[in-house]
Amino acid sequence: MGIGNWASTVASGALALALGLGLAATPSFAQDKGFVGIAMPTKSSSRWISDGESMVEQFQAAGYETDLQYAEDDIANQLQQIETMMLKGVNVLVIAAIDGTTLSAALENAAASGIKVIAYDRLIRDSGNVDYYSTFDNFQVGVLQATSLVDGLQERFPDAESWNVELFGGSPDDNNAYFFYNGAMSVLQPLIDEGKINVVSGQFGMDTVGTLRWDGAVAQARMDNLLSANYTDAQLHGVLSPYDGLSIGILSSVKGVGYGSGDLPMPIVTGQDAEIQSIKSIIAGEQYSTVYKDTRELARVTVGMVDALLQGSEPEINDTETYDNGVKVVPSYLLKPVPVDASNWEELLIGSGYYTMDQIK
Ligand code: BGC
Repeated sequence: MGIGNWASTVASGALALALGLGLAATPSFAQDKGFVGIAMPTKSSSRWISDGESMVEQFQAAGYETDLQYAEDDIANQLQQIETMMLKGVNVLVIAAIDGTTLSAALENAAASGIKVIAYDRLIRDSGNVDYYSTFDNFQVGVLQATSLVDGLQERFPDAESWNVELFGGSPDDNNAYFFYNGAMSVLQPLIDEGKINVVSGQFGMDTVGTLRWDGAVAQARMDNLLSANYTDAQLHGVLSPYDGLSIGILSSVKGVGYGSGDLPMPIVTGQDAEIQSIKSIIAGEQYSTVYKDTRELARVTVGMVDALLQGSEPEINDTETYDNGVKVVPSYLLKPVPVDASNWEELLIGSGYYTMDQIK
């Protein structure tokens, strides 16, 4: 057993003892193992708040000191926060980038100071100084979104000869957005080719359907335009939405022109992140589905990676092929995303303790 393992065994034994005795959960040996800077993109989405909270909790329980910062989707702000973390002497940076291409210079400085870098959830591009990547299977997220869209279309509009659908993409500066879109199109393109799905606007491709900074207001405005330009006669049956924050904007837009009332059913609208507002919307029969990514698990994988890196062992990875950041293929650990709709939200989200019923009802 290495010293690091030995230390962590002793540490967890002491923690168990402390908890067993009903003592405070912050043991005196905490924060001895290293200092971790955690740079998150924004608090405007609850998932990133959960990510941050889970990481701080789990890093501290494992004996690390943390510095958690949110940059409110401002690239310069995030860079500044990362530089400040380096000045404070962090050993590791865990970064969910706002723009995955803007960190190269900062990471060069990090590497020169021996600071390890983990790309968290979003790949950091154009830099050789990214050590590991912890994320979910992002292509699979898109597959799940499109599969649920098609299931919903079949269920709600079984008699339609073809389904009128519009496509939304995530932020073009986020590498994940391309994986979500491509995963979704792997399911939708064959149906488009055979005429079962009709994208009435003719708008395809991330260049056209992307939504900068994942901004719900931008999605809402685009949906308004799509409706007035293409759906005064035609009925909209479905919308591929890659993120709950966009779905909420899209739903406001379609409700504004009468969908969901009278004889105009709601279109099938997908999502991602199982955010509380969207779970409420699913229960109310508005949003059709979302994709649950357990941020506690992502934190667990990340803490494990950092612990291994700093204690001199090999971090656990399960993918060495998919995530080429333009300079190197970053060794990755991919977690499994899970589809959620009205039939299973309670079991998955309440049953696992991700939310309490009070938060939802
Ligand atoms: C994350 C998604 C999230 C989106 C918007 C992506 O990088 O993977 O979970 O919905 O950013 O915050």
